[in-house]
Amino acid sequence: APSTLEIPPWIKVRLSQGRNYTELKELMRQETLHTVCEEARCPNIYECWESRTATFLILGDICTRNCGFCAITTGRPTGLDREEPKRVAETTKRMGLKHVVITSVTRDDLADGGAEIFVGCIEEIRAQVPGCGIEVLIPDLQGNWDALSAIVKARPDILNHNTESVPRLYPWVRPKAQYARSLELLRRVKEQDPRIVTKSGIMVGLGETREEIHQVLVDLRDHLVDVLTVGQYLRPDQKHLPVEKYYTPEEFAELKAEALALGFSHVESGPLVRSSYHAASQVPVKAGM
Ligand code: SF4
Ligand code: SF4
Repeated sequence: APSTLEIPPWIKVRLSQGRNYTELKELMRQETLHTVCEEARCPNIYECWESRTATFLILGDICTRNCGFCAITTGRPTGLDREEPKRVAETTKRMGLKHVVITSVTRDDLADGGAEIFVGCIEEIRAQVPGCGIEVLIPDLQGNWDALSAIVKARPDILNHNTESVPRLYPWVRPKAQYARSLELLRRVKEQDPRIVTKSGIMVGLGETREEIHQVLVDLRDHLVDVLTVGQYLRPDQKHLPVEKYYTPEEFAELKAEALALGFSHVESGPLVRSSYHAASQVPVKAGM
């Protein structure tokens, strides 16, 4: 495959800075929290922040893993900030968020993978910002199912865990992850509490075949996953895996139709789709929201 493909015209960012966006941007300048929206320079930030959806990165900004697509620094994280859930809830409130996504680096240095901080965030947000949709995008917790169960008991509206790619590419894309373990995680959540919307996502363009994508969709449905996101992989910089293919908007539409036919209740599939894109529309609207 060619090492540098030309970036196609449909990979474009909508540069409209509405009032909500500007307001939230100002507010985040005063905060000590990080949003993935800003850190990852997510192309959807204007749209998401306009609609009052944001993704917070908790448990620090150093990850114990080294996925081939991810720009987050790999290393040895230090400490644990037990005040973090309070700050997340306060910022959620101040930002007036309608849907909050909480995600983290992978903390293989912690026995529970940081699950207690996820639980704390869910509980604090429920208490301080009633009516706000809560989504957690969690790491695999190294298969610590007790830690997973604690998060499920805190009852987020959506529990998301991304499979990211097809299993054949895991040695490059997610070297320390296991495809079967990620699938098992998703199934356990749904079996423990069917009220929680389960969600997963993949990036395409890393060299996978269409048949391999299809098999991942089948596997996700076999593991009772409700919501699917499919987006184009974009290389953060030269140190990361090259883009092997840019899928066209038509191909994303085909993948969406394929996924809906398999029974997913909601599918976001498009070049700029990221796992929290349009997340607010994936939960049943609650009274009073
Ligand atoms: Fe933030 Fe997710 Fe929206 Fe990107 S898609 S701007 S990370 S909420
Ligand atoms: Fe990035 Fe998550 Fe992989 Fe860590 S585990 S390198 S944060 S994708």
